[in-house]
Amino acid sequence: MSTLIHIPLRAADLGEGFLVRRALPSKLHRMVGAWCFLDHAGPVRFAQGKGMHVGAHPHIGLQTFTWLMDGEVMHRDSLGHVQPIKPGQVNLMTAGRGIVHTEDSVTDGTSLHAAQLWIALPEHLQHCEPRFQHYDKLPVWTEQQVQFTLLVGELAGHRAPTEVHSPLLALELRNTVACPIDLPTNAAFEYAVLVLEGGCSVQGEVVDSQTCVVLPRGGNVEAQTLSLKLNACSRILVLGGEPFEQPVQMWWNFVAHSKEAIARAQADWEQGTSRFPVVLQANGEPAPRLQAPALPW
Ligand code: MN
Repeated sequence: MSTLIHIPLRAADLGEGFLVRRALPSKLHRMVGAWCFLDHAGPVRFAQGKGMHVGAHPHIGLQTFTWLMDGEVMHRDSLGHVQPIKPGQVNLMTAGRGIVHTEDSVTDGTSLHAAQLWIALPEHLQHCEPRFQHYDKLPVWTEQQVQFTLLVGELAGHRAPTEVHSPLLALELRNTVACPIDLPTNAAFEYAVLVLEGGCSVQGEVVDSQTCVVLPRGGNVEAQTLSLKLNACSRILVLGGEPFEQPVQMWWNFVAHSKEAIARAQADWEQGTSRFPVVLQANGEPAPRLQAPALPW
């Protein structure tokens, strides 16, 4: 009997008609460990004069995690960081009590391929100081003709430098020749597999780029491994983590442990308080701010 949960990706508009495919959160499975949000953007080639442009918006209670595969995106934030991200690099922004950022294609009319994820912060770090970290080097190795890039956590004696605050894994597999690959699993983790390019099967079940599969903890007790079969020329994202037991509220760009905390953040954003400072553009002017949708409760 199948223990895999197949989550169909849904389209989400990041603004100006730029569509991404969203896997998490889903009604079928809300989070994978502390991974609480998963968007797959592209691969896409923008028309001349077009690109990704996400105006100034706030975050609280989470880390945003960006993995870039193609294109170049400029990050600017309210702490003053101005950081381009290139393929093979990770941006990690810890929102804590509050931060504001913008994300823009560096050159319009080019391509973009990225995964953007959010990591819920544990309750004791909900109000920590905001922080931004850029990682231009991650552990990369090859096994059985598959290129492994460890984005978060530990695997096979390798450890990623990315600073997270709960037990997590993020791994990219990339191959040219079709092949099976067995990954050792942590019995305390749940896992998800997302196809970034190509396709694969997971525990014998076919997965394409329109679906994310989740393996719940204990859902496959006899399996000590995650059994993948990679199609030729694939790029696969594997996520894992200990199920996040604390209650998590999510609304717009906010993650918190209560609705009150989210309502307070929304009011602070709408009133333009010092909790959410401006982001300066290249010309020194404050970046245009995105408006929060009305609270649903
Ligand atoms: Mn953001």
